[in-house]
Amino acid sequence: MINKFIIAVLSILLISACDNGADTSSEQAHWYDDIPRASWQKFTMIDTGQDWFEVYKLTDNTYAIYEPNQWQEAISYLLIGTEKAMLVDSLQGIGDLKTVIDQLTDLPIIVINTHSHYDHVSGNYQFDTIYGLDEPYTAANALGHGHADYINNMTKDTFLKTPPDIFSFEFYQSKAYQIDKFVKDGDIINLGEREIKLVRTPGHSPDSLILVDKANRMMMTGDSFYPAPIYLYSETSSFADFFMSAQIMFSYRDDVDFLLPGHNETMLPAASLNKLRMATLDIINPITPFEQDGMTRIYSFENFKIIVKDPLDMGFDKVLGE
Ligand SMILES: [Zn+2]
Repeated sequence: MINKFIIAVLSILLISACDNGADTSSEQAHWYDDIPRASWQKFTMIDTGQDWFEVYKLTDNTYAIYEPNQWQEAISYLLIGTEKAMLVDSLQGIGDLKTVIDQLTDLPIIVINTHSHYDHVSGNYQFDTIYGLDEPYTAANALGHGHADYINNMTKDTFLKTPPDIFSFEFYQSKAYQIDKFVKDGDIINLGEREIKLVRTPGHSPDSLILVDKANRMMMTGDSFYPAPIYLYSETSSFADFFMSAQIMFSYRDDVDFLLPGHNETMLPAASLNKLRMATLDIINPITPFEQDGMTRIYSFENFKIIVKDPLDMGFDKVLGE
């Protein structure tokens, strides 16, 4: 039943206000106040000679590639199997990600995106093999976005240090890429002695998904969970869908120990799956307090917030009107 809500937004091809981990709440003076984040210090940093990215070895066969010097604080992940490697998201196209990945593995690379917002797909153009959903929203974003869409997101005050030479404030754009193979909910991608399950979790965007690696007890959550305000208020977001997706994510609680989000911090305890589920239940409870901010409601929880539309797009009005 959630598909009717997806269909309602698929025709809108606007780039969403993307949808990241930067805390815009009033108690924080600057987006960069929490950088550097202490939680990254527990991982071994790998020197790839590309100083725009910070690369961390999370486990024997899992790396995080992190962009701490830009307000999105985007993170992508490299999962190594015995025959192939999977790149989960490709960041923003600011630095030369391909050169970094080439230093971490010689295996063939499959790129898969947790969703098609620009801060997760803009490095796709550098890679040969992209897996994606067969969805109009995904296809529209794969066409790329011109510079005009980024006049607010790629300004000098969104950077903490000078970007690499290949980046241009004047001409930055999210480049087009081609999806080579369509994947769907429930697919298992075998990297060789490492199986990754794809699970659709629409809400933040119509094409959001998570990736579950049961053997290594980790879940790549994209923007469906990170420890900061989770954005569910853009035209193409749906709280009704996210409500269902949070329950689906929770159903994997016994299979994973760690959550690997698309922004800010990583290897977070899987206990957050229950907190996220409980948060969605709180949001549909009319007596739960929230902060009104224009046409949005901000709900605050222990280590994250959820920003939804006001009124809440739970579909009640549609049901009552039918
Ligand atoms: Zn996003």
